[in-house]
Amino acid sequence: MTHWVPKSHPRYESLITREKLIQGFEEGYVAVAGLIAHGRGECFDYLIGEHTIEPAIKAIRAAAAALLLAKRPVISVNGNVAALVPEDVVRLAEVTGAKIEVNLFYRTEERARKIAEVLRKAGAKEVLGVDDATATIPELESERRRVSPEGILIADVVLVPLEDGDRTEALRRLGKTVIAIDLNPLSRTARAANITIVDNVVRAMPKLVEEASRLRESEKEELESILRGYDNNAVLQDVLRHIVKRLEELAKGKLTLEF
Ligand code: ATP
Ligand code: MG
Repeated sequence: MTHWVPKSHPRYESLITREKLIQGFEEGYVAVAGLIAHGRGECFDYLIGEHTIEPAIKAIRAAAAALLLAKRPVISVNGNVAALVPEDVVRLAEVTGAKIEVNLFYRTEERARKIAEVLRKAGAKEVLGVDDATATIPELESERRRVSPEGILIADVVLVPLEDGDRTEALRRLGKTVIAIDLNPLSRTARAANITIVDNVVRAMPKLVEEASRLRESEKEELESILRGYDNNAVLQDVLRHIVKRLEELAKGKLTLEF
């Protein structure tokens, strides 16, 4: 059950996000480690200032171009993503022609089925990775390696909103273009992905849908030129510079609140 959060609360958005994860946990499809991961994310959100920063906008643009240019794009969904942005996943899949695949770090058949159900309720017509997670990614052990032979296994571009570093690296070694959404610019995922959107998934996903809808009308050459001009290392450097600058400015000012 979602607990009541007053709209006037100064941290309303953040509290609603937490409530959605708690609800997903109580319904049995968000992993307990997913709750901890969200806490790590929130910490970095405080540091960037809880808004979509310029380097993230650049990455969103490149991500939209990569998804639109892909032959076999896949959006990988875990418990947190299903709890927070199921409608955006469905819309992005529609706009880019991507497949949706449930892909879990802590995989159980029950969680996979429940996530597929959440996505179907949000409008997804096809969800891979439940009964068909029969293929395996080399180098990863046991349940973490299972993927759909029609989805991630043969994908050229994979969007992993919230992923573990190990699996991101494994996807890269398979030659896939990996797009990550991760609030931690220092995580292995952020550093291993081809395109890293350092932003909260609840802000980044709607913006990615919007950008993909806008770029859908563009010529292939224009999309290719966006990708050619994109430098993920420079984007991650810009994120760190943004944090440093912001903290330095805050450190000069008044931090205590008035009552
Ligand atoms: P890595 O394995 O990539 O080095 P990790 O072990 O800290 O990092 P994982 O649990 O593997 O992290 O992945 C979760 C990541 O998702 C974390 O880096 C966390 O900052 C990020 N994260 C959590 N919640 C959100 C959110 N709402 N939006 C964006 N990123 C988030
Ligand atoms: Mg990890």
